Amino acid sequence: AKSVGGDRWTWFDPIMDQLAAEDAVLGADLMRAIGRDELFMLYQPIVELPHGKFAGVEALVRWRHPEHGLISPAVFIPLAERSGYILELGRWVLEQVVRQAADWQREYGDRAPEKVSVNISARQLQEPGFAAEMAALLAREGVDVRGLVAEVTETAVLGTGTALDAVKALNALGLRVALDDFGTGQSSLSLLVNCPVQILKVDKSFVDGVTTDSPQAVIVDSLITITQGLRIEAVAEGVETAEQAERLHRVGYRLAQGFHFARPLPAEDVVLLFDQDGAG
Ligand code: C2E
Ligand code: CA
Ligand code: CA
Ligand code: CA
Repeated sequence: AKSVGGDRWTWFDPIMDQLAAEDAVLGADLMRAIGRDELFMLYQPIVELPHGKFAGVEALVRWRHPEHGLISPAVFIPLAERSGYILELGRWVLEQVVRQAADWQREYGDRAPEKVSVNISARQLQEPGFAAEMAALLAREGVDVRGLVAEVTETAVLGTGTALDAVKALNALGLRVALDDFGTGQSSLSLLVNCPVQILKVDKSFVDGVTTDSPQAVIVDSLITITQGLRIEAVAEGVETAEQAERLHRVGYRLAQGFHFARPLPAEDVVLLFDQDGAG
């Protein structure tokens, strides 16, 4: 299988140990990261099974720290959430991604990605002015919103009525909403009844077990029945092997994402995939 390079970074590991002690220092650094141009976006392809035909991207933020090197969003997003800085960081991410999607649409027309997904944190969704701010951004950038997907977690949506209202407001603006990391949070199937989502992202922890005789495999199979019945699109996350891709396709998955197909890539490398028939 071919996998596209581009995110060949190794996370700076020792920092993980010191994190607790350096939380405050790192937090202060983070608050200056946008102003100092230390943040940037990568885009991981979402592909069609079985051949890996390009179908879209998920935008993923990166922080290049001047001393510590690249720090994982798994570290700095929670840090930003704790400090409240996530609102500013989230706004910056949205601006970058909406602008990028608009550029691709203008430059490539029909060949532009059918989906450009962006992660929205719980804190952003719970902010009362969020949907209005989003509407203003979309209008300003002149983007076709049908190409945009907002990824939210089940925990965020279950959290408050404000978040659920925000999801409905995003739908009303014409965006599709994806339920991210499905199955790992405070899962509740009633969410699929009450929350208008169009896409369900099946978490890597389930996909990992898909080729084995395991509860994870049973869940992956069952989610296809549920999503097809509800006419929700399923995306299998964290696909790392050809065997997993093949098995997912066989049980009915049409879309996947993972290192087997492609790593997160800089925007200029993503455009090289617009006309490709697929790899992997
Ligand atoms: P996520 O939303 O579940 O994003 C998918 C993560 O899985 C990404 O990690 C991606 O690089 C990684 N991944 C994709 N395919 C594979 C695979 O085959 N194997 C393995 N081992 N990993 C794979 P990343 O970029 O480090 O992001 C981690 C998390 O940080 C994201 O999880 C998301 O929750 C958060 N995050 C990233 N960017 C943003 C952002 O712009 N805004 C917000 N609010 N959160 C973000
Ligand atoms: Ca995501
Ligand atoms: Ca995910
Ligand atoms: Ca995740």
